[in-house]
Amino acid sequence: MKCRAAVLHKMGAPEPYTNSRPIKIEEIELDPPGEGEVLIKVAAAGLCHSDLSVVNGSRPRPLPMVIGHEASGIVEAVGPGKCLLERGDHVVAVFVPSCGTCIPCSEGRPALCEPAAISNANGTLLEGRKRIKFKGEYISHHVGVSCFSEYAVVSQHSLVKIDKAIPLDLAALFGCAVITGVGAVVNTAQLNMGDTAAVVGLGGTGLAAVLGAKASGAKSVIGVDLNENKLELGLEVGCDVVFNGKDPDLINKVRDYTDGGADFAFECVGSKQAMEIAYSLTRRGGTTCTSGLSDPAEKFAIQHVNLVAEEKTIKGSYLGSCIPKRDIPSYIELERNGRLPVSQLMSEKISLDEINSGFDALSQGNTVRQLIIFG
Ligand SMILES: [Zn+2]
Ligand SMILES: [Zn+2]
Repeated sequence: MKCRAAVLHKMGAPEPYTNSRPIKIEEIELDPPGEGEVLIKVAAAGLCHSDLSVVNGSRPRPLPMVIGHEASGIVEAVGPGKCLLERGDHVVAVFVPSCGTCIPCSEGRPALCEPAAISNANGTLLEGRKRIKFKGEYISHHVGVSCFSEYAVVSQHSLVKIDKAIPLDLAALFGCAVITGVGAVVNTAQLNMGDTAAVVGLGGTGLAAVLGAKASGAKSVIGVDLNENKLELGLEVGCDVVFNGKDPDLINKVRDYTDGGADFAFECVGSKQAMEIAYSLTRRGGTTCTSGLSDPAEKFAIQHVNLVAEEKTIKGSYLGSCIPKRDIPSYIELERNGRLPVSQLMSEKISLDEINSGFDALSQGNTVRQLIIFG
């Protein structure tokens, strides 16, 4: 079938993207879904920093590519043979499919699925195939999702079935921002009631981490960002106190406020500077948890003796260490019960044609989660 989709032909175009227009809305052709694959009609797709990292070239991917990885949709058709989903199911896409049989999947760590790491790097679906054609040639999938498109063919293992009661625009956020941020708190850090949390970077993932920390019973949540608007939003979403990352006295202020540092500090930016701040805000014996994806050339240095003598822990968190089939329905239920107010992360709703200006707004830090709404 033919449909309209956002195709990235070249990375590293100059900003503003409104002028350079690196993303073109093109007519693409999708192959019908094969065995184990599903055609979805995309309902809503969020603009995330990881898409921006592909657009600006800091996370190189095989191009041309239909970008986008945070989405909700409705199953339109399933491939031949047995399938976990059926036509009409409401689904959320997950940016790491899980094969279910590799060692990490067998250990209950699907975020680390080995075949998924290969297919995501190669720009294919989990099973190794490409289903998108542009001008007769196959082009790449973005982490198995490619949802800045009216329709998408994805592996059944890239989708989680959800309750039809949740609005599909809100549901999209659960596929990346929510599982990454809430999962970092709940699964990776395993924060306990009464712990203190510092969240460095108050974008979609960071604000979701704030929601996760509040829902988990954190005693206090400290927000850090460079942007005053984001600090205000941090307070609205549930931070008890916020500090500007540019404040030269930031570390001392947080140590004073927390009486020695936070039990858990979350790096949610994907930058070395944010990681250094998060590590410095972590108390003796505490844990620094990082979920931001930085430029592969970036390295983070720490004082070795401090790591040893203060018994600090540094943990990476990918996909919030989530088991998406367990966690997405669970976080949706918490949202429905009013305990995880994810709607606070939604900002502008835009059309597919406004995608370049949407990435300008994201790059300039003027927005949280913009959603492309499909008709
Ligand atoms: Zn994302
Ligand atoms: Zn696997």
